[in-house]
Amino acid sequence: MPRKRTLKLRCPICKKVVKNTDPDFPFCSDRCRIIDLGKWASGAYVISSPVTDAEEAIRESDPEDSESKS
Ligand SMILES: [Zn+2]
Repeated sequence: MPRKRTLKLRCPICKKVVKNTDPDFPFCSDRCRIIDLGKWASGAYVISSPVTDAEEAIRESDPEDSESKS
């Protein structure tokens, strides 16, 4: 009987052990593969920049709001 070499790696998304015989290798599942693709496609910068803009907009409107009240 020939010995089958099974390489084991950890899923980069959830750290679950994945065999190289797995159809979704190096990911444990199709879901983790999609999560990884989404990380590269959207990127953290794309998500963080509108949040920063919103925070700045709130800060800018704060002094105006207090002036109109007083
Ligand atoms: Zn996974």
